[in-house]
Amino acid sequence: MSDAKIRLYVEHPLGTGQAVPLTADQAHYLFAVMRLGKGAAVLLFNGRDGEWRAEVAEAGKRGGILICTDQTRPLQLPPDLWLLFAPIKKARTDFIVEKAAEMGAARIVPVQTRHTNSERIRQDRLQAHAVEAAEQCGGTFVPEVADLQHLDKLLDTWPEGRRILWCDETKVGAQVALSGATSGPWAILIGPEGGFSDTEQKRLRAMPQVLPVSLGPRILRADTAAVAALTLWQANLGDWN
Ligand code: SAM
Repeated sequence: MSDAKIRLYVEHPLGTGQAVPLTADQAHYLFAVMRLGKGAAVLLFNGRDGEWRAEVAEAGKRGGILICTDQTRPLQLPPDLWLLFAPIKKARTDFIVEKAAEMGAARIVPVQTRHTNSERIRQDRLQAHAVEAAEQCGGTFVPEVADLQHLDKLLDTWPEGRRILWCDETKVGAQVALSGATSGPWAILIGPEGGFSDTEQKRLRAMPQVLPVSLGPRILRADTAAVAALTLWQANLGDWN
């Protein structure tokens, strides 16, 4: 058990004896907010080198330096699962990104559909939410949050080998069926509050990669549906067993 309580995501490479410079925000957080001083221990991860214990070597108002001592956990990559979702209201979109990072999505892709409520997202804000979620859940990997993309365009070049678990509201009440599905590259697709348009539904049904599924007998809000679908996929095809 490490003596360090605080976990911090950094961009810098990590390794034995490696000096890691801090940004002004990180220095403020560690030294002004958390009141750490020289010699204090922190856990660092960068999404590539696992988790490392590091000690404060220099603590300043606008910067500082940590020195890595030893690796506390190896890098643990999530399964090759993308979450595609149509952004909704700000707080609920933040929730979806946070939960996707905690639950082990490898990539998060906001998609604009015919009935998407929001035409703009702040990719940098959403990426920061994914970082924060990884810091808090003990993850050593941070999923990339992509910029908003048109679902149509994304499907135009959709890779043959990546299947899509389409959460299809027209299947409400049908049996929840993943039988026959095997692990490998997958994406989960969640629609907006208004659901998918007829044209989108037709297109999805015609794609051989697409598996339409029900999430039970009730219509879930998009944020609830995202968590339910991630749970369903992880428990059946992912790294939960
Ligand atoms: N307006 C749609 C309707 O009334 O049919 C409901 C949209 S729902 C709020 C948002 C998204 O969550 C849907 O597009 C779908 O992807 C997913 N979803 C919600 N409940 C679901 C269920 N029971 N089965 C499958 N997908 C569901």
